Amino acid sequence: MSTKILTQHFNEPKLHELATYRKLGGYKGLEKALKMKPAEIAAEVAKSNLRGLGGAGFPVGGKWSTMPPADKAPERYVVANYDESEPGCFKDRVLGERAPHQIIEGLLIAAHAVSAEWAFIFIRGEYGIPFKILEKAIAEADEAGLTGKVRVRLMRGAGAYICGLDTALLETMEGKKAWPRQPPPFPTVVGLMGQPTVVNNVETLAMLPHIIVNGGDWFAKLGVLPNPEKKLPGSGGTAVYSVSGDVEKPGVYEFAMGAPLRAIIDAAGGVRGGRKVKAVIPGGASTPPLSASELDTPMDFDSLRSVGSFLGAGGVIVLDETRDMSEVAHNIERFLAHESCGQCTPCREGSEWTTRILGRMLEGKGTSGDLPNLQRIGENITGKVICALGDTVGMVTRGFMKKFPDDFKSKVPA
Ligand code: SF4
Repeated sequence: MSTKILTQHFNEPKLHELATYRKLGGYKGLEKALKMKPAEIAAEVAKSNLRGLGGAGFPVGGKWSTMPPADKAPERYVVANYDESEPGCFKDRVLGERAPHQIIEGLLIAAHAVSAEWAFIFIRGEYGIPFKILEKAIAEADEAGLTGKVRVRLMRGAGAYICGLDTALLETMEGKKAWPRQPPPFPTVVGLMGQPTVVNNVETLAMLPHIIVNGGDWFAKLGVLPNPEKKLPGSGGTAVYSVSGDVEKPGVYEFAMGAPLRAIIDAAGGVRGGRKVKAVIPGGASTPPLSASELDTPMDFDSLRSVGSFLGAGGVIVLDETRDMSEVAHNIERFLAHESCGQCTPCREGSEWTTRILGRMLEGKGTSGDLPNLQRIGENITGKVICALGDTVGMVTRGFMKKFPDDFKSKVPA
C-alpha cells in the first residue's frame, strides 16, 4: 500500500491556492519552526533521516551541518533545485503544479534552519506552467506575511540538463556558463556568490513541513531505519516516483522508502498489454537498470546501491520483454553526449564514442572489438571526471551490457 505525505491532498482541486492549502493544515510546519531555534530544526531533520530526493541521496541534516556558523558567515543562501531534467522524471513538475505552497513552506523552514535571508527557487526553463503557478504562490505567501524577513525569488533556467547539478546551477545563477565546479569546497561552504549555500531539491524541501509538524522520529520510522552493523544510514519517510515506460497507468506514485519495486509497478497498473517486465530503470535514465529477477528490491538508497544501481530522482522506467537494451542504452548515451558540458575529456569524448559505437552496432555494422571497447571506455570515464553526468556516461552502457549481454552480443560478429 502506498504511504502518502506529499501527495495526500492531490485530489483537492484548488490545492495550489493558499486558502485551500492552509485549510488543510498548510504553513503549520512553518509556524512551529519559527518558534524553534535553527539548531532545533536541524536536529529534528537529522533525526528524520531525510535524504536528498533529487538524485544524490545525501542526508539533509548532514549537509546543513557542514555550513559555517551564521556569526562567522552571515551572508548565506538557500536554493531550491527545481531543475528537473532527468529523462523519466516528472514528479517535481507535478508537485509544483499541484502543491506549490508545500515547496515554499519547506524552503522557508530551510531558510530559518540555516539562518538565511535569501531563498531562491531555480526552475527548469521548460517548466512554464509550474513557473507561473509558483510565481503566483510566492506572491500570495508574501502578501499574507508568510515569507517574513526571507526574500524569496524565482529564477528560470535556460534548458541545460547539467544545471540540475548543484554547482552548475550556482554557476548559471551567477550568470556564467553552467560548468560544474570541482568540489571541495562544497556549496555549503562556498556557494552562491562565494557564500555558504544550501541547495536542496524541491521534493526534499517539501518534506520539511511534515517533519516539523509530526517529528523526525515519525518520519524516520515510515522508511528504512539505519543499520549500524552494516554501516547503512537508512532512508526516512517516503519518495514520490515518476512511473513511465511500458505500464498501463504512467503517473506519479508515492511510497514509503523500502517499498518493493514490484509494488510501484503494480500501482501503475502493471506492464502494458499483459506483457512481461524485461528491465526497470529505477531512478531516472542515468541509473543502471535492474532485471526482472530484481523486482522485489526495496526502493531505498542503500538497497538499490547494493544491487548496483541508485534511487536517483525516482524516475521508474519500465521496459517490457519486446525492448532491445542496446537501443535503450544508445538512446540514453546519445542524450548524455548531447548534454555533456565538455569540460572533462573522458566525458566529452567518451560519451560521443560510446554513442557512435552503439549506433554503428544498431546499424548492423558492429565489429568484434566493439564490446571490449565499450567496456574500456566506460571504465575510463567513471570516477575520472568532475561530475555525476560523466560517471553516468561510463555506467549506463556497462550496466545494460552486464545484465542483458545477449542484446549486445547479437549486434557484433561472434
Ligand atoms: Fe561536464 Fe561531463 Fe565533466 Fe560533468 S563530467 S563537468 S558534464 S564534461
